Amino acid sequence: MKDRDVGCLKCGRKETIRAHLIPKVFCREVQVGKMHAAGVVGSNKFTPTQSGIFDKHILCAKCDGELGDLENYAAKKFRVIRSNFKNSKLGVHEMLSADSNKILRFAAGILWKYSIAAKDFGQIDLLGFDDEIKKYAYGEIEKPSFLDGCFFWLRLNEGSSDLFAYRAPIMMSIDGVNTFKFLLGGMLFFIKVDDKDLLLPQFKDLLLGNSLGIRFLLAPALLSEEFQEARKLAFSQGSLSDFLDKNGS
Ligand SMILES: [Zn+2]
Repeated sequence: MKDRDVGCLKCGRKETIRAHLIPKVFCREVQVGKMHAAGVVGSNKFTPTQSGIFDKHILCAKCDGELGDLENYAAKKFRVIRSNFKNSKLGVHEMLSADSNKILRFAAGILWKYSIAAKDFGQIDLLGFDDEIKKYAYGEIEKPSFLDGCFFWLRLNEGSSDLFAYRAPIMMSIDGVNTFKFLLGGMLFFIKVDDKDLLLPQFKDLLLGNSLGIRFLLAPALLSEEFQEARKLAFSQGSLSDFLDKNGS
């Protein structure tokens, strides 16, 4: 149990700010387009927000801002992917102009923030790897060997760059390897936090830790658990239809 109100959990500064768990830029994207649904699917809660989801007790402005730079970088690259590959065939694609290390540090930053977030916001347990994940996110150490991963773009339809949901990190076991999954900017991430390697054939060639540019799998959203869950939430939870009605969607 982490003590609340102890100041910034990175540097100790007393004044903390509204640190975004789901960065504002990703929430706004889901709301602005013509979306089927939006929400934090992992915790089964729909959260209508344009300002992002934040925790006021974890980070100061400077430490939040450093992770924010990585988030903006990732958001920008994901927009380029959605624009450049919207008409492309399903399968593996490559973007050499993106820095895979920065994308992986972005993912590490998201995981670390969720590890220090309040329980209500979907706190995750980084299995004792917290400190190294934090240092790697902040660029203080090289990529630790227990950390690696990849992402799929869940495309709604050919020709579409629309987004349908975001999802906070949840832990799962893939082939006995502890892996966190989250969905931001249309990209479904699988990040292993485990000394064992992710050996599944569908992840081979995609691992960010191995490459300079990025490789990702373009996959159909409609078949994904994330899309099914988002759609279920959209229909079952009054809050979403109320929210969309009020906002004239
Ligand atoms: Zn700080």
